[in-house]
Amino acid sequence: MTRRPGLDRVRTTVVVIAAAIVIVAFGVLQYRWNRDASDATGVRLADSLQLSMINWHLDLLNNLSEIGVMLRAGTNAPAGAATESLAQRFGEWRAIARYPELVSQVYAVWPRREGRSEAHRLNPDTSTFEPVTWPAALGTLDAELLALPLEPADPLADAASGREAAEHFYSLGSVLRGWRFDPTIPALVRPASARASDISDRGTRWLVVVLDADVLEHRLLPDLAHRYFQGADGLDYEVAVVGGTPRRVIYTSDPGFGAESVDGADGRLDIFGRPIQRDRQSALRILQPTSDRLRPTATADINWFPLIRNSPTDHDWQLVLRHRRDGSLNAFVGNIRTRGLIVSYSALALLVVAVSMLIVTSVRAQRLARLQMNFVTAVSHELRTPLTIIGSAADNIAAGVVDTREQLREYGTVIGNEVGQLSGLVERILQFAAMRDGRQRYSMRALDVGDVIDAVLASTGGLIRAGQFTVERDIAPNLPAVTADDVAIAQCLENLVTNALKYGKQERWLGIRARAIVDDSGRTDVQISVADRGIGIEPGDLTHIFEPFYRSASVRAAQIHGTGIGLALARQIADAMGGSIDVASVPGRGSTFTLHLFTDPVPQA
Ligand code: ADP
Repeated sequence: MTRRPGLDRVRTTVVVIAAAIVIVAFGVLQYRWNRDASDATGVRLADSLQLSMINWHLDLLNNLSEIGVMLRAGTNAPAGAATESLAQRFGEWRAIARYPELVSQVYAVWPRREGRSEAHRLNPDTSTFEPVTWPAALGTLDAELLALPLEPADPLADAASGREAAEHFYSLGSVLRGWRFDPTIPALVRPASARASDISDRGTRWLVVVLDADVLEHRLLPDLAHRYFQGADGLDYEVAVVGGTPRRVIYTSDPGFGAESVDGADGRLDIFGRPIQRDRQSALRILQPTSDRLRPTATADINWFPLIRNSPTDHDWQLVLRHRRDGSLNAFVGNIRTRGLIVSYSALALLVVAVSMLIVTSVRAQRLARLQMNFVTAVSHELRTPLTIIGSAADNIAAGVVDTREQLREYGTVIGNEVGQLSGLVERILQFAAMRDGRQRYSMRALDVGDVIDAVLASTGGLIRAGQFTVERDIAPNLPAVTADDVAIAQCLENLVTNALKYGKQERWLGIRARAIVDDSGRTDVQISVADRGIGIEPGDLTHIFEPFYRSASVRAAQIHGTGIGLALARQIADAMGGSIDVASVPGRGSTFTLHLFTDPVPQA
């Protein structure tokens, strides 16, 4: 079966294109999968952040609600009777509370439209409210409380029950209803008496529970931050609680964070929310823009905090969070994506390199197999001609066709020549094999270039004469001796000369020149060139002719015999002598091969 190089090439091209398509498709898929995976990670992180924010919020609510529950006294009780039990319950709360110092003072206050507002401070030791001058910590709370509209929270229910507006507002079922949060003091505030008569007689009496800013900042809020935003390596997020008038940082996990308004925060939560809106069905509403691929953020808009129904939102406290690594959750997710892409594209690049190497190796192997096949065919041809001649000479002698001694001598000469050809061929092949294996040994010594050239012309004299070639020998006088192995150099030049004879039949001219040139590095380069005026070499073949087994398509088409190892052998010898060999050729005009040898060679291994 003959192998068709064209078909091989087409097959290789198809494989290369298919591999390229598969790799590009992989690249695109990798990108998409990576993007989807990192988007999903972003959404998952935002989800979990949102959940943590909600739990954080619930925990804060628990801590504040405890106070509200314990101080529930007075809702419907007569004003005076409540005081003792309130003080007692405050003591009980302090005994069980996780943060008993969270409440710094409890006041009962009567804001007055005219005259001084009154304030009484709870003395836990005596369980009494003692009159005090209006505390600076309470600021303008009296004026704010007086300005509060005493509207019913739910006019429909109010209308249905027929209650009075003010009474309804303070005495609805839940004991927590009616507490409001003052973000500036900060304090929990609620009417101490819900009876309409109290309101009309003396104005409304209010209970004010002042929270300790220090406990909030250094204990409660840090504990909550660590409980809900703790990662394997400290807090996952920078956490701040900001608010009040003027806006200030109530707590921050990282000094500086929260001081300015935080652009691109990953999570935001209005802690005490806004008044319940009548058109809103659910008390809990969570917003998460999951469709926005570029910005995973968590926003919880929660209205379950019963303390602050009527709190204004503009100085509400707000929880602000920003991812600690990479500056934002978005950048963190972006970096996850980039890292994923780097890893997967590196793997893909490795794959590309591996596939390319595989293709290159397989193309080379195919080419080598083809060349070796050609070599076997060529060697067989080279063997056939001498064998045929020797065979027919033997037949003639055996058949008694050869009568005279003279004829016998001629036959002997012919057979001897052909055997010489055969031995030369076998010798070349063995030498080639030995050189490839690195088994060849050389004895380097100083050689006279003219002597070597003459020896080569003598050994190829038979062929030159048979081919009727004109030889032009031009050896520069006083050439320096080169250091080389004489047998190897002769072999190398013989190959060049026999090629010139084989491929230079058009003009039948052989030029052999030798000259010395001092190169840029100061070394003396002795150049021996072998030229012919024959078929020449196509530029596309020039880069290949020194490869083992390579024969140009034109010489094969012209059926010029050869094995394709002559030039490979010549180059290996030149290299081993520390020199080199090069070629210049014009197709149809001829070729010149030049062997460069040095007086002080650096032999190659
Ligand atoms: P061979 O001559 O046995 O084919 P070589 O290794 O000596 O093998 O040469 C390799 C190829 O280089 C040749 O097949 C031929 O195509 C080209 N070549 C070598 N010498 C010449 C030359 N003097 N003129 C034209 N082509 C040449």
